Amino acid sequence: MKTIPFWTDNFPRPADLPVSPLPQQVDVAIVGGGYTGLSAARTLAKGGASVAVLEQGNIGNGASSMNGGQVGSGVKLGIEKVFKQFGAEVGREVWQKTIEAVDYLEQTLAEEHIDCDYTGNGILAVAYRPSHYKAMARKFEWTARELDYHKFELLPPDRMRDEIGSDVFFGGMVEHVGGGVHPAKYVFGLAQAAARVGVCLCEQAEVLNIRRVVGNSGFQITTSRGELKANEVLIATNGYTGPLVRKIQRGVFTVGSYMISTEPLSPELQKELNPNNRVMYDTKWFLNYFRLTPDGRMTMGGRNNLSPNLDVRQSAENLRKTLVHIFPQLQGFPITHTWTGRLGITFDLMPHIGRVNGIYYAFGYGGHGVALSGYLGKEVAELIAGQSQRSVFAEIPHPTSIFYYGNAWFLPIVAAYYRFLDAVS
Ligand SMILES: Cc1cc2nc3c(=O)[nH]c(=O)nc-3n(C[C@H](O)[C@H](O)[C@H](O)COP(=O)(O)OP(=O)(O)OC[C@H]3O[C@@H](n4cnc5c(N)ncnc54)[C@H](O)[C@@H]3O)c2cc1C
Repeated sequence: MKTIPFWTDNFPRPADLPVSPLPQQVDVAIVGGGYTGLSAARTLAKGGASVAVLEQGNIGNGASSMNGGQVGSGVKLGIEKVFKQFGAEVGREVWQKTIEAVDYLEQTLAEEHIDCDYTGNGILAVAYRPSHYKAMARKFEWTARELDYHKFELLPPDRMRDEIGSDVFFGGMVEHVGGGVHPAKYVFGLAQAAARVGVCLCEQAEVLNIRRVVGNSGFQITTSRGELKANEVLIATNGYTGPLVRKIQRGVFTVGSYMISTEPLSPELQKELNPNNRVMYDTKWFLNYFRLTPDGRMTMGGRNNLSPNLDVRQSAENLRKTLVHIFPQLQGFPITHTWTGRLGITFDLMPHIGRVNGIYYAFGYGGHGVALSGYLGKEVAELIAGQSQRSVFAEIPHPTSIFYYGNAWFLPIVAAYYRFLDAVS
């Protein structure tokens, strides 16, 4: 079993991805070479700005090359809670934006000819308990009534075998929007697209310090490869956010997500387990997400703890047991890859755009980032360029905790609570 992501093992960083020396001066410097940073860079450069993406590793070093590749609507908080917390008007706008985020991803793939095996055939939620199926039925009615949204299809228990070769779930709901991407092909395709419009992709350039230039509105940036000046700076580091700007770090914390993938399955077994080749997730607090890879492996992610520092081999064994529980057909099937990456979560479970001491940021997608990160990258870029004056993600107040200074000491407590909820709900 390899302890590296299947996705980059299958599709490594392309050798012809153009990288740049560190420029001396740019209009906008972007910290982080994932979907957020690359999408923002592409938008800014298309508008005529000079842009450098500063990435401490290689492009796609973070979650963007190694995730589950599931593209769907919604935010981590849940749309009904968004309505309760922020009111119906904001709720409707947020929902609309999450649908636009999926459209925007599809549009970018088409415009830039990014071949990332996008399935585009929807996403399936499967109910872990009978009560979860009842909650799905309520959501089905609520979204039709409050949002005039009709892309969900409820699947009663007796229809589950049409969608999944498993008998452990109590119903489900297909959303006929989104689908699955090959995450590594998507991130490298986005990087190629950004490079084509003139973005400098600077790899192995860890940003160590950002300070305002005295008497000037710009910034002096120190990286592990040298110094540069920028008029504006965007932090796009999501689950990898460090203490560069303390106040920004205090708005997001890191949670680990762990994945495994099997050897390729026979075409017959693929068809039996996932007849419509959908990406899927279950409804637990410690949820599992699973799908077939384009070459026919079953891949699954999840965790039974929130720490980003768990032993990947032990996590792989726990995930394998869950996989075999869901699909007994996979008993004895070799696991070829296991890996982990970092999610960025905010205290209100909402994605945010913001500005601290003149430095912009966009992050906090909490497991919905494949579609949302590219979209927030575009939105923050339009704010920076003055092409738009507002974004709902910049207007929602961004809370932190007075007890949080970059060390997420509360994760074991939250994890214990999630375990309790999974046991009783
Ligand atoms: C295992 C896993 C599975 C997931 N599955 C899904 C899914 O199925 N669907 C979904 O919607 N979302 C999923 N997500 C979430 C999704 O991948 C992320 O929300 C998204 O990739 C975030 O993109 P980003 O560009 O904001 O951050 P990232 O891709 O994480 O990029 C941040 C980058 O910042 C760089 N960086 C940090 N500090 C510095 C510095 N000081 N200097 C220079 N560079 C720096 C890092 O090296 C990193 O490359 C998953 C995440 C993980 C980890």
